[in-house]
Amino acid sequence: VLRTPILAAARNPRIQRLVSTAPGSRQVVRRFVAGESADDAVGVTRRLAADGLTVTLDHLGEDTTDVGRAEATTKAYLRLLECLAAAGLTPVAEVSVKLSAVGQALDETLARDNARVICEAAQEVGTTATLDAEDHTTTDSTLRLLTDLRRDFPWLGAVVQACLRRAEADCRALATQGSRVRLCKGAYAEPEQAAFQSRAEVDASYARCLAVLLAGPGYPMVATHDPALVALADRLARRLGRGRDGYEYQLLHGVRPDEQRRLAAAGHRVRVYVPYGAEWYGYLMRRLAERPANVGFFLRALATRS
Ligand SMILES: Cc1cc2nc3c(=O)[nH]c(=O)nc-3n(C[C@H](O)[C@H](O)[C@H](O)COP(=O)(O)OP(=O)(O)OC[C@H]3O[C@@H](n4cnc5c(N)ncnc54)[C@H](O)[C@@H]3O)c2cc1C
Repeated sequence: VLRTPILAAARNPRIQRLVSTAPGSRQVVRRFVAGESADDAVGVTRRLAADGLTVTLDHLGEDTTDVGRAEATTKAYLRLLECLAAAGLTPVAEVSVKLSAVGQALDETLARDNARVICEAAQEVGTTATLDAEDHTTTDSTLRLLTDLRRDFPWLGAVVQACLRRAEADCRALATQGSRVRLCKGAYAEPEQAAFQSRAEVDASYARCLAVLLAGPGYPMVATHDPALVALADRLARRLGRGRDGYEYQLLHGVRPDEQRRLAAAGHRVRVYVPYGAEWYGYLMRRLAERPANVGFFLRALATRS
């Protein structure tokens, strides 16, 4: 019930100013975001790796409408990849990239060129990248750029949002040999014509997509905190004879950390999505929209003066 109003409020510039400058915000941000610098990101990655977890790092920032910022984001990824390699954390850590942060809204070619530079750097240090999925108006463009980049970087990961009505068809198209596909529910407020609106419909779509991906020759990345869907993936994989090295679970940094460790201890491959950087606002608001308990935590923190 709270999800849509929170996501709508998140786009209000006054609310953004209030939340971004409130002293209590930092406390909440720290739970979900590794910090502002590449060194912070490397530190968190090192701790997660010591617990047997793998990582995908996201340099925060999205909806860039400025060529300079798109380039600065690209450079931040290059620096991060260098730091990860120097720390011996590749290929344990890969990167997740939002095309809107590297110029997609300005010019598709600019976004593709920037993403290509990031892919080249990832390849050089022996790791991979995944293109995050953003709101449904960007899906066609993102899949177009993915197809293009995969000619040179076949390991480039795709993301499917189960809430979209097109999700199952996209999974069928993406379930090809070696194709890395992250399946998530979808974090954006989407209109009815593009997306399922009820939780039951989204979960049913997730289950259908999971069946397509696990039965196919690709590498499914099961991104959810939902215990029912984690258990379903486990059952389906066993029934289909897919070994534990044939798929992975993915969870967000700060969300169900005990479950992350439990899955890893049980012998599953687990990757934690770790965002870092100064532009945490949009990311934080999507996390709050997902879970009313987080909103309570957030409001209490906002009320704190220090
Ligand atoms: C690794 C990863 C990458 C992602 N990448 C993208 C992307 O590229 N594009 C995009 O749109 N979205 C992305 N998402 C976000 C995703 O789409 C969902 O918005 C988010 O994961 C919440 O959905 P859920 O599957 O966890 O299920 P929900 O429906 O939010 O939760 C289902 C159940 O999970 C449990 N649960 C959830 N949160 C908690 C918690 N904090 N503590 C305890 N139990 C909890 C509860 O039992 C809850 O009922 C990503 C998510 C992950 C994990």
